[in-house]
Amino acid sequence: MSSGKDHSEKNKNTSTIKTIGVLTSGGDSPGMNAAIRAVVRTALARNLKVTGIRRGYQGMIEGDFLPMKSSDVSGIIQQGGTILKTARCKEFQTTEGRAKAYQQLIKAGIDAVVVIGGEGSFTGALIFSEEYHYPLIGIPGTIDNDIFGTDYTIGYDTALNTVVEAIDKIKDTASSHGRIFFVEVMGREAGLLAINSGIACGAEVIMIPESDDDRQQLDRFMQKGYKNKETSGIVVVAEGDEVGGALKVAEKVREQYPEIEVRVSILGHMQRGGSPTAKDRVSATLMGVAAIQALLDNKQGVMVGLDDEQIVHVPFRNAVKYKHPVDQNLLEAQKLMNI
Ligand code: ATP
Repeated sequence: MSSGKDHSEKNKNTSTIKTIGVLTSGGDSPGMNAAIRAVVRTALARNLKVTGIRRGYQGMIEGDFLPMKSSDVSGIIQQGGTILKTARCKEFQTTEGRAKAYQQLIKAGIDAVVVIGGEGSFTGALIFSEEYHYPLIGIPGTIDNDIFGTDYTIGYDTALNTVVEAIDKIKDTASSHGRIFFVEVMGREAGLLAINSGIACGAEVIMIPESDDDRQQLDRFMQKGYKNKETSGIVVVAEGDEVGGALKVAEKVREQYPEIEVRVSILGHMQRGGSPTAKDRVSATLMGVAAIQALLDNKQGVMVGLDDEQIVHVPFRNAVKYKHPVDQNLLEAQKLMNI
């Protein structure tokens, strides 16, 4: 849908920002490259210079910078991971570390930075932008989809499809052997990846941190469902579930039902990799364009996001303070599918 804005107006760069930096931080997610590409090309189209910052905040502190031109982002839209590399940088959590980072940015003449990352990255960005009144814009890139204010984070859709594919395969084995599989899905404290993948795979039980009756659902399945009618089953467990991961849940079930064959599969880092889906590529492109536009509109300290397919600007403070809720309809649908 057209935004109705005048594109010739948008092409004018009247902002004081001349050079932007771009970095990826925290866990990598498929589609980060598409976002880097969109940031670089939009910035160049708006007559800005672009500097890539390697290894997230670590590279910012060390001055690990590289000038970027359009051809540097050719052929990467379909690649998982991030060409800029990423890092989890403890030093940026210290005042001294952030001071070093600021000095490096000033020395390199970088006027603003686009941060592609998750909640932790935006917490760092919030602190940094308040300390130095430095313009930072966030693009949500994490497979967890746990960031408040945006329907999607880059990488979530790819990860969801990866998980569904993996569980479908596990299901074949589960039904052939008549076993119950406890499949652990990533998502830290968020259960969105688990609930959506579980529904998509027809899981018998889905255990997520946001639901308070999943233990009862499991008991119900074990007592009625499994014992009386089912011969196998899939229990999806979010890594952040309060019972504590798939291993712990399976252990408890084994103690209670020693006669039942139980297996655990922790999907792990395969969930982060792979070529991004079309949805992740398009979302990343839209958000990359919007991030540069936001900087040129003198917005700062905000994350760009997608709400009902429309670009929104969410203050870092809100993005990190609130939780991305799980739609109650999903929880309800899951229960109905397993009566
Ligand atoms: P993902 O959701 O994929 O794990 P993330 O962005 O949440 O991504 P984190 O490792 O939590 O990943 O955070 C990335 C980086 O952000 C950290 O390594 C650190 O450099 C910075 N960061 C996180 N929290 C803070 C903080 N409180 N103060 C300053 N910097 C922080």
